[in-house]
Amino acid sequence: MAASATPPDRQSVIDYALGLGFHLAGIASVPESPSDPEARAVAHLQTWLKQGHQADMAWMANPKRQDIRQVLPGARSLICVALNYYTPQPHSPDPRHGKIARYAWGRDYHRVLHKRLKALAGWLTAAALEAGQVIQVRYYADTGPVQDKAWAQQAGLGWVAKNGNFITRQYGSWVVLGELVTTLALAPDPPHAAHCGTCTRCLEACPTGAIPQPYVVDANRCLAYHTIENRAETLPPEIVPHLNNWVAGCDICQDVCPWNQRFAQPTTLEEFQPYPENVAPNLVDLATLSEAEWDDRFRASALRRIKPAMWRRNAQAAQANQPD
Ligand code: SF4
Ligand code: SF4
Repeated sequence: MAASATPPDRQSVIDYALGLGFHLAGIASVPESPSDPEARAVAHLQTWLKQGHQADMAWMANPKRQDIRQVLPGARSLICVALNYYTPQPHSPDPRHGKIARYAWGRDYHRVLHKRLKALAGWLTAAALEAGQVIQVRYYADTGPVQDKAWAQQAGLGWVAKNGNFITRQYGSWVVLGELVTTLALAPDPPHAAHCGTCTRCLEACPTGAIPQPYVVDANRCLAYHTIENRAETLPPEIVPHLNNWVAGCDICQDVCPWNQRFAQPTTLEEFQPYPENVAPNLVDLATLSEAEWDDRFRASALRRIKPAMWRRNAQAAQANQPD
């Protein structure tokens, strides 16, 4: 087929991504062999794994996570994107209410990101083909073996923070990340510098000491891990006294972050508006949640990852540890 156009370039890709509703978009290059920042991110992951900080999250050890070239052979670029999910409702201080991490209040972020990533992938593939170039693409929204935060920093979106979250200047860390890996070569954005500075607020605020040193989060001690990923019948006794009504995730190390206190802004996306029952859920309801109620209550929600028995476990543990 005769080429009738030029292939998409950096600016047209960014413009298209922002037009799809992504709040931030940037490009990282994939060199033939790993760059220094990539090698450092991989070494950091390897040390974290060696120390067992992944707990039961075996997928974190997938070797592909340590080499993007195994995720997509011939990969040349990543298009990294972010969506701001923040809505301003406070977590309920009422002891009868459970607390759910903000990212899960509205529609499942995987779906919200995937819908737009699919559109981006379709456009990119078609636009390259029009210019006579057959390209490969894969896209993920926390759904593949990709060090998404490290790549997003390379693409200039923000930085990997001391609490393991990803901070942007525009929205703080209230963002979800996605990425499209492609064989199309694109001009990269400059990487973002880290701006945690001398701050240690998140390390001090974590109720379980789950951030033993900057940039290291030990899942074995993290409330988010235990309430969402831990499938055991009961929660560890050293964790339970610190639940403080968190039944699905934990926002403490984000709530105390000065970047969030200064730069959080309400999302423009209707999809992330909270389902009312997620902002201040009744602990009694969750402690007795049936399979049918679970199925009905958590449709199109990231909270489906927490199975009914886990909800009952988490809520009952929170109820048993009410402050006097
Ligand atoms: S999510 Fe909560 S428990 Fe986990 S590291 Fe942050 S503050 Fe600590
Ligand atoms: S609280 Fe301070 S150290 Fe922690 S992520 Fe925010 S800026 Fe970084």
